[in-house]
Parts: sequence; structure tokens; C-alpha cells
Amino acid sequence: MNVDMNKVVRQHLQMDEFFTGGFVIKGQKVMQEQAEPKESIINSSAELDKVADEVCRCHECDLGYSRTNAVPGEGNSNARIMFIGEAPGADEDAQGRPFVGRAGKLLDKIITACGLKRSDVFIGNILKCRPPGNRDPRAEEIVSCFPYLQRQIEIINPEIIVALGAPAARTLLNTNKSIGQLRGQFYEYYAGLERPPIKLMPTYHTAYLLRNYSHENRQRVWEDMKKVLVELGLPVPERG
Ligand code: URA
Repeated sequence: MNVDMNKVVRQHLQMDEFFTGGFVIKGQKVMQEQAEPKESIINSSAELDKVADEVCRCHECDLGYSRTNAVPGEGNSNARIMFIGEAPGADEDAQGRPFVGRAGKLLDKIITACGLKRSDVFIGNILKCRPPGNRDPRAEEIVSCFPYLQRQIEIINPEIIVALGAPAARTLLNTNKSIGQLRGQFYEYYAGLERPPIKLMPTYHTAYLLRNYSHENRQRVWEDMKKVLVELGLPVPERG
């Protein structure tokens, strides 16, 4: 394979620059600080811990035997936004935490560019264990693992789910459409018939962005995130 190293380095620097610095929030405060933890938040946090505990002991599929660490997901039990990816990679498997590798660093930058902190949101995955060699999740693995995510969504009850990439968007929306077709508009995710639907925004996975550098792709993700911020009534940072 012929790789133009100068191009690769240039693209990395551009990617770095696009989602860092330069964004200014005009106007109000971004997320309300919680004065003191409410009982409901303490309960959700305990319920999330219970799910995480079960995930860490899970052997429902073969991935439970090949993983180093399960990656239940982490973040704010009262989050307004949940980011859902595909499955842990090598870094996540080693640390037991979601989105801590290169794709995770880019997700951190996007969260910061939105005027938010990682601790404001919840970050999880469709699969809680790493598929060997980062192969695609298998249908039976998704079937075994998805109930954990469904419970996490029910507990957190976010206002918006951002589905990162095709496997997350397809699983949550039960569709076979491509991420190119799905991204950029809101869909509805039902966490239970007795509850109002949760808005779901599919967008490109950060790992895809890292592999497919282009101004258009980065701009598309930013446009999707701006829609999320508007929907939440949060200020949309402008390039300063
Ligand atoms: N990619 C994912 O989909 N999830 C992670 O946690 C890390 C990378």
C-alpha cells in the first residue's frame, strides 16, 4: 500500500484543529450544576453500578471469555445526552473504559467543542466486550449484549442518544440503512411503551472520521451535533 505520510500527518493536524479551541459559547451557562445529589440521581447511579457489575461478570457470549476487561460504559447517571458506539477496541479492553483510544480522544474533542464535559454525558457501546481483532460484532453477540444497553438507557432516560456509526444506529433503530442515509436527522427510540420516545441522532463514528479525513465529513458531524445542541436548548458554540 502506498501511504503519503505527509498527507497523513497534515490530516491529523487538521482533525486536531477542527474540533479544538476556537469555539466560543455566547450567552448562558451550558449545563446546570447539580447543587446536591437528588435521591433519584443516587438511585440511578446505584442501578447503573448494578448493570456494570453484571456486565463485568457476563459470559453470555464467547466475548466474555476472550476479553481482558468488560467495558460497561461510564458517565453521568443523569445525562441529557448518551453517546453510543459499537464495541470496545484494544485500549478500551485494556482499561475497562469506553472511548479512551484515538477514536475516544476525538470524541472528547467533539464533546468539548459542544461546550460540554465528558462528565456531563454518558458514553457506552452496543457490545460491552471487545471482538477479537476488532472484527464486526456478530448478530448473536448483539442479541446477548443489547439488553444491558437497553437497561442503561432506561435508567438514564436521556433526552438525546447520539448513535456513533452504523452498528449503533442500526441496532438502536432496527434498520439496515447505511449511516450515510441515516445521519443528520432525528429518529425516535422507544425505551418502553409507557414512556415518551427518546430522540436519536445518528452520526459518523469518530473512528470512521479518523480513517476518512475530509472537511465535508468533519463538517457533517459538527452539523449533526449542532442539531443536538439546538434540540436541547443549549448554546451552539461559534468559531471565535
Ligand atoms: N470504538 C467504539 O465503538 N467504542 C469504544 O469504546 C471505542 C472505540
